[in-house]
Amino acid sequence: MEMNETAPIHPPRESMDFDVVIVGAGPAGLACAIRLKQLVPEALIVVVEKGAELGAHILSGAVIDPGPLDALLPQWRTDEDRPLRTEVTEDRFHLLSAQSQFRLPNFLMPRLMNNHGNFIGSLGNLVRYLGAQAEAMGVDIYPGFAATELLYGEDGAVIGIATGDMGLARDGTSKANFSCGMELRGKYCLIAEGARGSLAKELIGRYRLDAGRDPQKYGLGLKELWEVAPEKHRPGRVQHTFGWPLEDGTGGGSFLYHFDKNLVSVGFVVHLDYANPTLSPFEEFQRFKTHSLIAATLEGGRRIAYGARVITEGGVQSVPKLSFPGGALIGCSAGFVNLPRIKGSHNAIASGMLAAEHVAQALAGGRAHDELEDYDAAWRGSSIGRDLMPVRNAKPLWSRYGTRLGIALSGLDMWAQQLFGV
Ligand SMILES: Cc1cc2nc3c(=O)[nH]c(=O)nc-3n(C[C@H](O)[C@H](O)[C@H](O)COP(=O)(O)OP(=O)(O)OC[C@H]3O[C@@H](n4cnc5c(N)ncnc54)[C@H](O)[C@@H]3O)c2cc1C
Repeated sequence: MEMNETAPIHPPRESMDFDVVIVGAGPAGLACAIRLKQLVPEALIVVVEKGAELGAHILSGAVIDPGPLDALLPQWRTDEDRPLRTEVTEDRFHLLSAQSQFRLPNFLMPRLMNNHGNFIGSLGNLVRYLGAQAEAMGVDIYPGFAATELLYGEDGAVIGIATGDMGLARDGTSKANFSCGMELRGKYCLIAEGARGSLAKELIGRYRLDAGRDPQKYGLGLKELWEVAPEKHRPGRVQHTFGWPLEDGTGGGSFLYHFDKNLVSVGFVVHLDYANPTLSPFEEFQRFKTHSLIAATLEGGRRIAYGARVITEGGVQSVPKLSFPGGALIGCSAGFVNLPRIKGSHNAIASGMLAAEHVAQALAGGRAHDELEDYDAAWRGSSIGRDLMPVRNAKPLWSRYGTRLGIALSGLDMWAQQLFGV
């Protein structure tokens, strides 16, 4: 390639060497770092996070299955600064029409849909808590740095990542505040970018990790955090709805969780096969909040935060091969969301831990830049596989038969598996 004489000249990038480089400080990346430190205290581990601070890119207000967190940090429930304090006390499912609502009896719900034993809390607080634990163990965490490039060795294996240059003008020349990106090299790179990350996309394409799998499916999740009037707050209540304002042929539904001091997390997920030409998912969400069931809780309150994020919905059929030469995908980079439960953070933590255990074995064996095939082979037999397998038919039935019939059929399917193991 010819040198372009007008190309800006930047100083060469500095590089730093680690045992393990983790991209993304969400539940998956941080759980992975903590587990690795527990197993290999002397390991040099770095986590890069593109958000300006930990939790900045995490949508708060979630129901969290605490199983994997109990396994990772058994003392968390008695910690002074524990991030989850509101245990679920009440589960409600409603079918909405424009003017009315019908509450489904709880006895109709398969056991796996039961939220008792789970916690309602801020996912952002959970991430900040995990980050503090990781840093106390000696993990280097660099917030404010996006991994923009994968580095490949001569044999094609991933050998690290580079963070983006900062302070570039539109024409590519450096401004006064220019700072050059850095190369962070590691024996293994774990990709924990969450749903639809750019590095994961490159890796899935380059190594054909999705060969033989269904394409990943996505939903758009909109979430708002409200402070509601104290007399309307029901700490521990978990409420889900489906139906209005979405058409029967459009997949999606809502959640509304009461937690901490007068906080309510209200949100709406619309599957991305959404095809209403007149109203956007955002407008549907605003319409949904005017329903008497929802407005009754929000009236007199104030919205204190909001955001939108993509959520993976493909389930087991869409999980790509997890390992590639030099690293692996963890958490929602692999797509471990359990759609009917609208939960993924527990599997993100579990997959981070599972990957860490296989990386620890590889480091102990003096290996580097090879493929963590055992990690890929292990996840289906782990708690993640046990969580996702019973709901594998939910999304296909929902997409094929619409919301009402699809949900009824997937409920029957889950009951059949619970009762007869089929
Ligand atoms: C609307 C909605 C509601 C949800 N509700 C629940 C719920 O109630 N309970 C539940 O358990 N789960 C819920 N989930 C799913 C849950 O949020 C995810 O499963 C979980 O956050 C996945 O964790 P993760 O660590 O894999 O990824 P994430 O939590 O997405 O974290 C990824 C991190 O990586 C960073 N990052 C990404 N790319 C780069 C890069 N190139 N360089 C540096 N940093 C990068 C991001 O900024 C982010 O901080 C919900 C999701 C949505 C969208």
